Amino acid sequence: MLGAIIGDIIGSRFEFNNTNNYDFTLFSQDNNFTDDTICTVAIADALLSGESYQSCLLKWCRKYPHPMGGYGASFSAWLHSSDPQPYNSFGNGSAMRVSAVAWWFDNLEDTLIQARRTALPTHDHPEGIKGAVAVAHAIWYFRKGGQMAGFIKLADEYYPGFMHYPYEFGRFDESCQGTVPLCFYIVAHSESFENAIRNAIACGGDSDTIGAIVGSIAEAIWGVDDALYVHALSILPEDMRNVATKFRNQINRRYENN
Ligand SMILES: [Mg+2]
Repeated sequence: MLGAIIGDIIGSRFEFNNTNNYDFTLFSQDNNFTDDTICTVAIADALLSGESYQSCLLKWCRKYPHPMGGYGASFSAWLHSSDPQPYNSFGNGSAMRVSAVAWWFDNLEDTLIQARRTALPTHDHPEGIKGAVAVAHAIWYFRKGGQMAGFIKLADEYYPGFMHYPYEFGRFDESCQGTVPLCFYIVAHSESFENAIRNAIACGGDSDTIGAIVGSIAEAIWGVDDALYVHALSILPEDMRNVATKFRNQINRRYENN
């Protein structure tokens, strides 16, 4: 989930001002966290605290009502509703927030069930659920030692032919079915964490979210670069930084004990 936060922050200043320059400056004073980081933190907090995904999403997003880039219109209406109900979304928000479950749950079945549950409060459209499940599956697969060739086969089961889609790089597409296969394609063509993030941003389009999803998977393959991690965390408010750090420490401790 740290990879998602790093990718979101690095992509933030390009969401509405795309770049196709691969050698862009990773951090400038215009970088900030966006909704992708807030929702990722919310899911991690739900796992740490045992609160429901819905109540943590509401709590964190209401606490930060005006992040850089804002929230989508339907999500915003959901946030401010007195009785929030799922609204059949297939937006890429379900895929960008899911990463923590793939680290928290050890077996695949639990990971996929919980990925689905993180989507359901808002993204109960089949494509919205599928986006969350597919990304969690990819992260889990790599963190268990999976290799790129196997990942391509796995990703192809979710999005048949994704390596050969006629991608229109730079087109703004906020749907899961437009974003997740593109992120899988970027991962399949990357060679390191930083390379994956740069490839994600230089594709254009919904840069912060593409950065977040690609970053979340790249973390499971290559680990996050410490310098990028430290810089990204320094941009977060203290409460989000605390959740991210606590989550990382708990996961690291589990692996040490296994
Ligand atoms: Mg965003």
